[in-house]
Amino acid sequence: MKTLSENLQTYVGYDCDVLVAGGGFAGIASALAAARNGAKTILLEREFMLGGLGTLGLITIYLPICDGNGRQVSFGIAEELLKLSIKYGAQDRYPKAWLENGTLEDKKKKRFEVQYNPHIFAHLAEQLLIEAGVKILYGTSVCAVEKSGDRISEVITESKGGRCAISVKNVVDATGDADVCAMSGEDVCTNPFKNNLAGWYYGIGKDGQFLRQLGAADIPEDHNGENCVAPISNKKYDGLDAEEITDFMINSRKKAIEDILAKREAGDRNLEPSFVPMIPQLRMTRRVAGVLELTEEHSDTRFENSVGMVGNWRRKGPVIEVPYTCLYGEKVKNLITAGRCISASGNMWDIMRVIPVCAVTGQAAGTAAAFGVDFADVDVKKLQEKLVSDSVVLHISDLEEVK
Ligand SMILES: Cc1cc2nc3c(=O)[nH]c(=O)nc-3n(C[C@H](O)[C@H](O)[C@H](O)COP(=O)(O)OP(=O)(O)OC[C@H]3O[C@@H](n4cnc5c(N)ncnc54)[C@H](O)[C@@H]3O)c2cc1C
Repeated sequence: MKTLSENLQTYVGYDCDVLVAGGGFAGIASALAAARNGAKTILLEREFMLGGLGTLGLITIYLPICDGNGRQVSFGIAEELLKLSIKYGAQDRYPKAWLENGTLEDKKKKRFEVQYNPHIFAHLAEQLLIEAGVKILYGTSVCAVEKSGDRISEVITESKGGRCAISVKNVVDATGDADVCAMSGEDVCTNPFKNNLAGWYYGIGKDGQFLRQLGAADIPEDHNGENCVAPISNKKYDGLDAEEITDFMINSRKKAIEDILAKREAGDRNLEPSFVPMIPQLRMTRRVAGVLELTEEHSDTRFENSVGMVGNWRRKGPVIEVPYTCLYGEKVKNLITAGRCISASGNMWDIMRVIPVCAVTGQAAGTAAAFGVDFADVDVKKLQEKLVSDSVVLHISDLEEVK
């Protein structure tokens, strides 16, 4: 392969305590937690809107923060962002029983989840981060890191202004693809099953606006499954290469438009797409190989180092305590992950990649990052105390029993 040595002089434009790479749900929660805990926080986002897959990717279903048996299991920022997303009204799935003092029976019937408007959420999240004192830099990608021993000393970015370095104490990798982990030599794993093509889009037809979940959809078994269709392509995607991602985007939009034309043909003559995906709807690409790798066997297990809990969106019942050690790896001491690139494998990766988990792991990662020490050196008891004082519930045994 032909290679080129670049002679680069990169200016150091900023310094911060906590650098959050990526402004999806995980990055939003991380930056919010870090800033609220007094850290000088910078959030870098490659695109020009917050929310990642949850806004630009049109994945606007905030999956349940309950266990399916009537018990809320995710609290703190996970609950705050869910409520923020519907501050000006839910698009669908308004969780009446949960927000209006419903009975346990009602809560068992309808899980605590919502469908929200992506544009309103992105705006509200932006305001929330600005209020918390987070410096947001849009159109800015992490492209490299500079290391000093086993720590990242600077994160190198590319933007309209060219290359710029940021001096950092701690880094949260919330890129969804573990980009910073890969760049800094942390151990990572890729997705052996690869990704199906997806083409979720919004349309406006004779019955008003709708979200079409085109492709193999993430619909919990207790939904009616009307949008749950077979894969729309035989091709599978790693999602880590520009050419392949380009192919994904082209085909995703092609399928969406074909779907619209088919619906017009079937009678909804004036159907229009209102939004097609702006970023690739890839579920799992690359993740950190953490100190602990969560697997499905860890459901309903007590972890003494739990930093919060999540439900299983695919099945009613199981509750997962999230151990602190599934957020970071062994090699790079001041790097932690949040969101869909934390350390979980097999089915558990699929269970742990969704929006509520991004918020729970983001709050934990951002809070830990604000401690200002290397992640393995964080006093976990103190971290847990801080999380509890910020409304997080850590253990299944802390939840009320329900019959
Ligand atoms: C088809 C599909 C259906 C899904 N259905 C649901 C569902 O119904 N409900 C649910 O809760 N979840 C669902 N999910 C999962 C969920 O949407 C995502 O896993 C979750 O939103 C991921 O959040 P995140 O913050 O970890 O990552 P992302 O949303 O991917 O955010 C990462 C952010 O980082 C930015 N970024 C990436 N690389 C860089 C870089 N190098 N430098 C700077 N910025 C960078 C990106 O632009 C992006 O904004 C679905 C996912 C897919 C693909």
